[in-house]
Amino acid sequence: MSTIEIAQFACLSDNYGYLVHDAESGQTACIDTPETGPILSTLDARGWTLSHIWNTHHHFDHAGNNLEIKEKTGCQIIGPAGEAERIPGIDVKVDDGDTVKLGAHDVYVLNVGGHTLGHIAYHMPDTQNAFVGDSLFVLGCGRVFEGTMAQMWESLQKLAALPDSTTVYCAHEYTAANAAFAVSVDPDNDALQTRVQKITALRADGKPTVPTQIGLERATNPFLRPHDARIRAQLGMAEATDVDVFAEIRARKDNF
Ligand code: ZN
Ligand code: FE
Repeated sequence: MSTIEIAQFACLSDNYGYLVHDAESGQTACIDTPETGPILSTLDARGWTLSHIWNTHHHFDHAGNNLEIKEKTGCQIIGPAGEAERIPGIDVKVDDGDTVKLGAHDVYVLNVGGHTLGHIAYHMPDTQNAFVGDSLFVLGCGRVFEGTMAQMWESLQKLAALPDSTTVYCAHEYTAANAAFAVSVDPDNDALQTRVQKITALRADGKPTVPTQIGLERATNPFLRPHDARIRAQLGMAEATDVDVFAEIRARKDNF
């Protein structure tokens, strides 16, 4: 099994675009279509030909350039079945439990609805990568626009259950703001404090904080830690359910 190459590049004000390339087959997938120019120029610079778009959800900064990129490359568009009518040019509708292929690599689709109802993530277990769109961020998670807090919590638990060494590619650089909030609900977490120092240094150098890893998020991301006794104490919710603690953390972040 060949390895894969991943190109990460900035798009719009705070999005990341990704290209995943399998050298053996020559196939290349683009995760979402935040901005046409950087996607096409990165393909050109690498000498890669786009075979697929993998959409995570219908928001404009994720599917807004689908038709232009499909027209220019002839690629196939794979996207969330649950919001297919809002994914321009969709060819293949997928949802939880489905698999797609990049060359010989199996790519597993997870439904991680909540930010939008049909939001999906793409997990490549053999190379230990996951492309999660706006579901999980570094020290944060997506705003719950369409689903319920319970649905979002269930979705995040699916991601948290991936192997700790899974590399997570999120769609936005929101980390500095997320870090400030995380410390406010989990002030005594040494792993979080150490991480915030590294993040501050990266951002001071203008460097990305993405990708991240599942194990690191499990240790430091408050949205994956509603079971944590210190967070519960900080929120005055020692006896609450995990989903209620998660909902309180999400609500506080919305107003932070
Ligand atoms: Zn979004
Ligand atoms: Fe987004």
